[in-house]
Amino acid sequence: QRTAVAVAGSLNLDVVMPVPHHPRPGETVLGGDHTRHPGGKGANQAVAAARLGQHVTMLGRVGDDDAGSFLTGMLDSAGVDTSAVTVTPQTPTGMAYIAVDEAGENTIIVSPGANGMFSAGDVASSAAVLADADVTLLQLEVPLDTVEAAARAAGGTVVLNPAPARELRPALLDAVDVLVLNETELEVLAGQQLPSGNLDGIVDLSRRINGPDAIVVTLGARGALLVDSEGVSYVPAVEVDVVDTTAAGDAFCGALADALVRREGLGAAVRWATRAAAVTVTRDGAQPALPSRDDVENVR
Ligand code: ATP
Repeated sequence: QRTAVAVAGSLNLDVVMPVPHHPRPGETVLGGDHTRHPGGKGANQAVAAARLGQHVTMLGRVGDDDAGSFLTGMLDSAGVDTSAVTVTPQTPTGMAYIAVDEAGENTIIVSPGANGMFSAGDVASSAAVLADADVTLLQLEVPLDTVEAAARAAGGTVVLNPAPARELRPALLDAVDVLVLNETELEVLAGQQLPSGNLDGIVDLSRRINGPDAIVVTLGARGALLVDSEGVSYVPAVEVDVVDTTAAGDAFCGALADALVRREGLGAAVRWATRAAAVTVTRDGAQPALPSRDDVENVR
């Protein structure tokens, strides 16, 4: 089957540990039982687009271990094509160790493992998939050279979610059609702090980023802002009872890709993504919280 959405990115095992408080250097803290969850922005966004009915192919790397088979198994069961996920010998699968204290505050250690071995050469091996896909979705949890290679190889619309944020070369930004980022990431890419949270300031900063045709700034509970050559449009968030905002951004990116495959205009795509993200925040967890097409259509 032809790939509609190609995702080149990370796969992580999230290990979540409840702790009474976060340990200070040198301190040992007795935590509660840990739980294991599939994660990584790449894998989460791949599942988000697949749940909405798109044929998604994931490009990336896992280790030759239980975590790797767990993650590819989760993608398989979501209907994501994992034939371009390479198993890497003698390298652990990427892991995120997440300690959550009683107030719900997180500290996170990410160990990239096999994600760090995902190379431009891997991208070249799957060049045909990227050339053919309607939308290629990228994030920054894998090496930058790999992200650049994937953006160049993509034949369709390139959507980059530059998280975790770092400065990017102009060559990469030039290859991006739609940049989707939150306010913190916007500050890093624009190389300047937001003077205030008001929308005008956000628009000004967005205009400092050259390359992409459109910039979508996600604003959490405030919704999202679309800035492109046609102007600026603000899409308010859908009002919902929030349970857990984990993966809101990933749901947003996956749903945006889904709408772009269906040739929706960007404005409609952002509204669709906002509705998909709203469903996600009403549910616990990351991948299990990602909505189906029916779920999103039933929002309001
Ligand atoms: P995360 O890192 O938690 O995945 P993010 O920082 O990448 O999130 P946000 O801007 O927090 O992204 O959220 C993405 C989108 O999710 C927002 O644009 C909005 O549409 C939706 N969203 C987030 N929080 C809420 C909320 N409390 N109520 C409704 N929608 C929300």
